[in-house]
Amino acid sequence: MAKIVLIGLNHAGTAAANTILDNYQGNELVIFDRNSNISYLGCGTALWIGRQIDGYEGLFYANKETFTGKKAVVYMETEVTKIDFDAKKVYAKDSEGKEITESYDKLIIATGSLPITPKIPGLSMANVEYVKLFQQGQRINRILEDSGIKNVAVAGAGYIGVELAEAVRRRGKNVLLFEAENTCLASYYDEWFTHDMDKLLSDKGIQLHFGELVQEVKGKDKVQSVVTNKGEYPVELLIMAIGFRPNTALAKDSLETFSNGAYKVNLKQETSKPGVYAIGDCATVYSNAVQNSAYIALATNAVRSGIVAGHNAGGTPLESIGVQGSNGICIFDYKMVSTGLNMKSAAKCGFDPACAEFEDLQKPAFIKENNHKVKIRIVYDKKTRRVLGAQMASYNDISMGIHMFSLAIEEKITIDKLKLLDIFFLPHFNQPYNYITMAALSAK
Ligand SMILES: Cc1cc2nc3c(=O)[nH]c(=O)nc-3n(C[C@H](O)[C@H](O)[C@H](O)COP(=O)(O)OP(=O)(O)OC[C@H]3O[C@@H](n4cnc5c(N)ncnc54)[C@H](O)[C@@H]3O)c2cc1C
Repeated sequence: MAKIVLIGLNHAGTAAANTILDNYQGNELVIFDRNSNISYLGCGTALWIGRQIDGYEGLFYANKETFTGKKAVVYMETEVTKIDFDAKKVYAKDSEGKEITESYDKLIIATGSLPITPKIPGLSMANVEYVKLFQQGQRINRILEDSGIKNVAVAGAGYIGVELAEAVRRRGKNVLLFEAENTCLASYYDEWFTHDMDKLLSDKGIQLHFGELVQEVKGKDKVQSVVTNKGEYPVELLIMAIGFRPNTALAKDSLETFSNGAYKVNLKQETSKPGVYAIGDCATVYSNAVQNSAYIALATNAVRSGIVAGHNAGGTPLESIGVQGSNGICIFDYKMVSTGLNMKSAAKCGFDPACAEFEDLQKPAFIKENNHKVKIRIVYDKKTRRVLGAQMASYNDISMGIHMFSLAIEEKITIDKLKLLDIFFLPHFNQPYNYITMAALSAK
């Protein structure tokens, strides 16, 4: 029987804990989390703040009792402050200052990520908010209730910034979206896609400030304006959403790390120290598109890595099959999904990429209802013909199609193999000349 200590009980930690408790009852599991809540689905923050769902209550799927009921020892609101890897002990402090020490045979670190906080003057002012924890969502929600809040700046037009810009606009505020790149969602999609989203955001009244970096926040106690490289804008709330960094303060000096500081792990989620696992946003993933370690902070990766580490710590060797970074976004009902690499990121990774694309109505033109255009681009390597990525967008729900491309990347399928793939046809769903087939056939 082994004693397993788990640090962090959000998505990755929850998956690891459930895997251990459901499959390896002989082990002892001790869990620490410094927060007061567990399993908050940050992906629901924008839906809740934008009043597309009734409230935040449904955004949790586990609590302390989920694990104590299965005989784990759970310390909530208790921060692990030090790990002694030689003595195999963790040291923690609870919210009342009480110190706790626990020894371990195996250790799982699931400390996640933290919002990037740039060194900009004025960022510590009231009404500058980050979007990660439930408590931060609560604060933004409360601030937006004040009718005096009319102008809101969002810094960062990645997923979270765009989702929050939509949510705040849905609350009737003037929204200014600042982004260093010249388009939104630049890391995930090519401009053929992002320009459609830019237009949609703009049509919905969101003021786009691309190529603009927030450099200063001005105000007395609260934010009164933001200053960028191009101007100064009066706002009463600034939402910072410029990305996340792995939270590795605890062991970055003891474990091998990746270029951005994430713990480097092998396919078993094991770090450079045997018996010490790292999962979720604090760890690397293996990217099948790049065929190397990468950093892709997503809840789906967190859950899978937690399952893998849970089995390995429990005693069953299990290897991850790697990931593709599949993701989706839905803004004012417009849906975009992607997996693997886009043209820009593929070139950056040293490939010589080409793309095959197609645009058409999803269903035959005689279907008059719920029949919108679909855009698809498949990215492949010119030399090997291997599929490296795919992007799709539509007002229709085309999301399931992206999973096929995820598998294609994972299985190293070539673009030519997709040309004659058996894809069914039924007018309720698609066209006889299916958009996936048509895109693949257009590959040179
Ligand atoms: C607004 C938002 C929207 C998102 N939308 C999506 C989405 O739609 N799809 C998707 O796949 N992903 C999404 N993500 C990303 C996803 O939330 C993260 O990838 C996921 O939370 C990672 O889970 P994790 O358990 O690794 O880390 P975290 O969620 O960061 O959890 C880490 C846990 O460790 C605890 N902890 C940290 N340090 C210590 C310590 N020293 N001692 C004790 N406890 C500690 C923390 O309290 C926390 O509970 C979104 C994220 C945000 C913020």
